[in-house]
Amino acid sequence: MASLHILSKSTFLKGLQCDKHLYLYKNNKELLDPLSEMQQAIFSRGTDVGKLAQQLFPGGIDASPSSPTKFDESIKLTEELIQKGEQVIYEASFMFEQVLAAADIVVKDDSGWKIYEVKSSTSVNEVHINDAAVQYWIVSNLGYKVKDISIVYINNQYLRKGELDLNSLFSIESVLEFALEKQKFVTDEVARQKRVLKRNSIPKVDIGMHCTDPYPCGFIGHCWKHIPENSVFDISGMHLRKKFELYEKGIIKLKDIPNDCGLNKNQQLQIDGVLQNKKIIDKEAIKEFLDTISYPMYFVDFESFQPPVPLYEDSKPYQQIPFQYSVHYKESESSELRHFEFIAEPDTDPRIPFIENLLKVLGKKGDIIVYNKSFEITRLKEIQRDLPKYAKQIEKLFDRVKDLMLPFQKKYYYSPEMKGSYSIKYVLPTLVPELSYENMVIADGGTASLSYESLLSLDDFIKIDEIKKQLLEYCKLDTLAMVRILEKLEGLE
Ligand code: SF4
Repeated sequence: MASLHILSKSTFLKGLQCDKHLYLYKNNKELLDPLSEMQQAIFSRGTDVGKLAQQLFPGGIDASPSSPTKFDESIKLTEELIQKGEQVIYEASFMFEQVLAAADIVVKDDSGWKIYEVKSSTSVNEVHINDAAVQYWIVSNLGYKVKDISIVYINNQYLRKGELDLNSLFSIESVLEFALEKQKFVTDEVARQKRVLKRNSIPKVDIGMHCTDPYPCGFIGHCWKHIPENSVFDISGMHLRKKFELYEKGIIKLKDIPNDCGLNKNQQLQIDGVLQNKKIIDKEAIKEFLDTISYPMYFVDFESFQPPVPLYEDSKPYQQIPFQYSVHYKESESSELRHFEFIAEPDTDPRIPFIENLLKVLGKKGDIIVYNKSFEITRLKEIQRDLPKYAKQIEKLFDRVKDLMLPFQKKYYYSPEMKGSYSIKYVLPTLVPELSYENMVIADGGTASLSYESLLSLDDFIKIDEIKKQLLEYCKLDTLAMVRILEKLEGLE
């Protein structure tokens, strides 16, 4: 039998964001946007951090339900464990007035219960406080003496030296005072949300800032269907609040934007591009840029990942760890294109083989062409800091780095298909339509990063090989894209 809850802690938080979100989530789950691989990975990352934090309070009993829908099992087990005098319980479930919550860790001492909510973020925010407030409301109203309620989160200043030190990795901050202040608010809000759920029609809520704040809603595909292509929401570099100001005035399509709405040069260019099919090709400026680079050329791209828990010596939580590169090499304009690539084995510190291998491939001379040089340069500087042994050799690379993004960032070349962006993901299909990221399993840096992170918990060699292959293909396309883009620019002369 499934538990008879009307609200849960997570639906309560959805209801704080938007009534329609709450209602659709309870009644029309079929309208939810499919969960991207990235969201799934972030979710499982949260679970892993939660499990690790349990070790701060060892010896507890796990009261998780056998399946996510069987919370009644977990409520019953929690009650039994408390009756038996257990001092530490993980995933303890409680229900009061049909509002259900699972507490990550509860600990009992002589003075009462302490509740710990584990978050994989690096600070405490308003959502965490609301989360704690509803948790406190449920547990204290059931008659348990709650002495304290805290958020356990990741201390991003922790530098790993040797074995993982959980007491330094996690920060624990009491939010009892804020949770207490919110008790009347929770009582009223629970009653209000129950009324929303009793309605027999979907609440009428227009789209707004609440669709992404505090979290992107899962019903965007459903609620935003009326927004056409080339709308104000496509304007690059404009704050979402400003876009909604236009939307609320009924200005939705780019063609409806009045002249006096304070657009910057790039935004105006984007709009003129769409409305007048305006293209810019400043051959003079492009030639000047091309004169700053010369063969031999190494077209280079790195991928990195950001594990929340530092896995390697001398690294911090969420530090970007480079694990892969692709290099296309051309000795002269007419010479044959050569390719080099590397991906680290996930069970070792990737930085060491990555940099050793890269330094060998890049040799001592030749321009190093990247797209958005601040990314590659920052990663190299971090390796200099963390692995001083390679610092001198890395230092010699910096003068050789040239940024192919520059002609697009400075709008020496602009076409309406770029939608105001100079990201390679927009530039490539415009200049080299025959090369495309479409249909690639991994098609952006974020997915590449989470895919690599997923390798750490896999033991299926076939799956590991498959993901590594997809990562290599993705990174290879990034550098091949640079080669082809440069050829197009050279062809304009
Ligand atoms: S997309 Fe926006 S309006 Fe629709 S349910 Fe979500 S938050 Fe509410």
